[in-house]
Amino acid sequence: MSTQIEAMVRQTSFPFADAPDPAKFSVCVHCGFCLEVCPTYQEESNESHSPRGRVYLIKLASEGLIPLDEGVVSPVETCLDCRACESVCPSGVQVGALIEEARGQVYLARVENKKASGIQKLFLRGIFPYPARLHALGSLLRFYQRSGMQRIVRGTGLLRVLPDAMREMEGVMPEISAQRALTTLPERIPVAQPKRSVGLFTGCVMDVFFSQINEATARVLTKNHIEVHVPKRQLCCGALHVHAGDREQARQLAKTNIDVFLEEGVERIIINAAGCGAALKEYPELFKDDPVWHEKAVDFSARVRDISELLVEENFEKPKGRVERRVTYHDACHLCHAQGIRKEPRAILQSIPGVTLVPLPDSERCCGSAGIYNLTHPEMAGNLLERKMDDLPETIDAVVMGNPGCMLQLRLGVKKRQQDLDVLHTVELLDASYQKEGVTYGN
Ligand code: SF4
Ligand code: SF4
Repeated sequence: MSTQIEAMVRQTSFPFADAPDPAKFSVCVHCGFCLEVCPTYQEESNESHSPRGRVYLIKLASEGLIPLDEGVVSPVETCLDCRACESVCPSGVQVGALIEEARGQVYLARVENKKASGIQKLFLRGIFPYPARLHALGSLLRFYQRSGMQRIVRGTGLLRVLPDAMREMEGVMPEISAQRALTTLPERIPVAQPKRSVGLFTGCVMDVFFSQINEATARVLTKNHIEVHVPKRQLCCGALHVHAGDREQARQLAKTNIDVFLEEGVERIIINAAGCGAALKEYPELFKDDPVWHEKAVDFSARVRDISELLVEENFEKPKGRVERRVTYHDACHLCHAQGIRKEPRAILQSIPGVTLVPLPDSERCCGSAGIYNLTHPEMAGNLLERKMDDLPETIDAVVMGNPGCMLQLRLGVKKRQQDLDVLHTVELLDASYQKEGVTYGN
């Protein structure tokens, strides 16, 4: 049989819909430029755990030359989806999208074999898609923190029953606010002579753990004469679902968000969480086999901007209030590699009187957060966090970034090393400077 006929009769090892797209893996020229920037390859020197190796294994499985077993699943699951490889790839291989499509196949195979993780299903299908349940989870965590229960649990050593990674995260959980910004912010924050109207995407992790950053974002926007809409029917962006391979649930969430924001008629959709921003901009990927929703997703995604991107695009008002800080900036993977946003947050920080921006070596290397990677692969995540902490300049008093997952991870690093360092979002510093000028909503 000729090789061509053999390939036609061979069964793919990715039998479900929405499989890895051959157009994506076929452009890999095996040059290996991506190897040296891949954090998992740097740690393990294992070709299977490099971008080139992963792309090749996905190709082999796609063509039915190898089965969908541990030899493929492990490399696909240990990928951070950090996209550092995409930033250096001369052929434009969409490694992240390929990994996510392959994870979709792994997820569906597990569902078919009834091996899907119960915890993952509980959080991804049972809590994140439902704002009321997410709010209840936030309230529960707040009760845990404020009722004295946290002190008792810590004192009795009950936390020892948790896996190490979850126990560590419990230790750096920020103080949960009583309300999420999605609830407290008005549905529309008008401004005099608006330059633009935008919809604020409040996110899940951001709004449960850092709702004050969403409030700061709204203040910063109105200070720049931008009218803010906060559509109350918005849902989780689905980024964590895509990471975990649950693409169908991600599609359901995306459909609601697309309808809600397009109906709102806003010119831009603003996000301050890098992981969510990348997911929102990549909605068209989820609908590549559905022309109707694909068209709507393209319209939606074209309006999405990271807050730093929008502020620079709109020639933001230069802040005047002094904020005396020596800071360094960590590039969240999904901001720099997935969205190409590097200069904008730095331009904002450098515009703030009193802020000194100290360069961070290898600032684009992943901190190990990567969605829930720090919970699923604690050892690799821990090693990457250690490297990030080693790189932080000694002279700073804060490390700044644009993603809540990185903020939680860096808080963990700061706590472990008992350093006197704040972990902040770019918008918090800009807001602090504007606040010194006496900013209120809508002025
Ligand atoms: S993914 Fe890109 S950089 Fe890596 S081997 Fe393939 S073509 Fe080269
Ligand atoms: S996305 Fe990150 S971890 Fe995954 S292959 Fe690329 S560089 Fe490596």
